[in-house]
Amino acid sequence: MMVLMQATATDAQVDEVITRIAAFQAQPIRLPGDDHVAIGVASAISPDLRPRLTEALSLLPGVESVVQISRPFKLASREFHRTDTVFTIKGVTIGGNQCVVTGGPCSVESRSQIFETARAVQAAGAKILRGGAYKPRTSPYAFQGLGKEGLELLKEVGDELGIVTVSEVMAPEDVPLVAEYVDILQIGARNMQNYPLLIAAGKSGHPALLKRGPSATIDEFLLAAEYLLHHGTERVILCERGIIPIDKTYTRNTLDLNTVPVLKYLTHLPVFVDPAHGTGVTRYVPAMARAGVAVGADGIMVEVHPNPKEALSDGAQSLTPAQFAEMMPELARVAQAIGRSL
Ligand code: PEP
Ligand code: MN
Repeated sequence: MMVLMQATATDAQVDEVITRIAAFQAQPIRLPGDDHVAIGVASAISPDLRPRLTEALSLLPGVESVVQISRPFKLASREFHRTDTVFTIKGVTIGGNQCVVTGGPCSVESRSQIFETARAVQAAGAKILRGGAYKPRTSPYAFQGLGKEGLELLKEVGDELGIVTVSEVMAPEDVPLVAEYVDILQIGARNMQNYPLLIAAGKSGHPALLKRGPSATIDEFLLAAEYLLHHGTERVILCERGIIPIDKTYTRNTLDLNTVPVLKYLTHLPVFVDPAHGTGVTRYVPAMARAGVAVGADGIMVEVHPNPKEALSDGAQSLTPAQFAEMMPELARVAQAIGRSL
């Protein structure tokens, strides 16, 4: 539910609406608008309460109309927040006209590996460095990540090169530590519906990149983002990384590019595309990265490793620095063709 105020409404009238919403045990949120002030109700309103609340608010002085929000998500919805969410981290603007590329290894493996990769992706135009320190691995015998040491290396390379960093956090209790070392918390696909983790990440207020669960619907994805927003993080990036495929013979997942324009319609949050996990195969990554830019993604995330054959995770979908450098001008041309930059 959202209350649109008349253009002539006074501050006192707006305050009265806010007080009245709160009196119904609902959460009022003042939404800035160009000409009209609007107040959103960021709570689920039960069907029996809805008509009473609607009537009570409609009768207040200064109220233009009370609009019902049809979506299950509120703060993530464009109905609540009409303009795109745009934010800047270390001078890098996310969600604006520029599509930003994130490159880096699946896992931070060593100082030389992360420094070499970071320098290469930055030289080719990447604005964000990725690297997992806490890895969600299917097998407990697979490399689990360097943990805190990986975070320390990311911080060191991020500070030295002045590049934005992103790394996955898997446990709610690790949120403060990961937030201390990297610029963006990644919530991985497997944890998209780990609600204690979403709550902890949201409460940190740290920027977050939320990956879509492999079998999550768009509403579930946006409701997961709603948890982050509701608990206090405004800087949320959504990332499509492929959903369960009907055929795993040739690709690891099915990169669901429909999601990008659908999300751009439904939400104001920036949307990234990860064609590395989306395809699982290096050969297909550049083509699907180009497709991601073409369909309007605000960012592309790929995996880059100096020696993919030796990678401790996801070597089969990693680009070499040379392949990454070859892909970047192609992405720039696609971006330019749709009136954006890279
Ligand atoms: C990753 O980014 O390395 C990763 C594990 O991604 P996802 O959560 O999308 O599988
Ligand atoms: Mn990976």
